[in-house]
Amino acid sequence: MKMRKSKAIKRRSGADAYKKIKCMNHDPENSKWGEYAPDLNGCTEIVEVPVETSRVLCYKCTSRSTSGVKF
Ligand SMILES: [Zn+2]
Repeated sequence: MKMRKSKAIKRRSGADAYKKIKCMNHDPENSKWGEYAPDLNGCTEIVEVPVETSRVLCYKCTSRSTSGVKF
């Protein structure tokens, strides 16, 4: 196990705890929420998420889904 400088306390901070992934609507056909993608070509939004998260819906698509806006 690698030792890190004391700065890395056990908190969800630091670069390692987060990653940037595309909104799952970048591929609308394979997304449960694909019909809410802002564009037929898919969403291009990048979202920062905790590393253990593999899929995310960006705030734009989320708000579209909650307000029922479909493309
Ligand atoms: Zn999106």
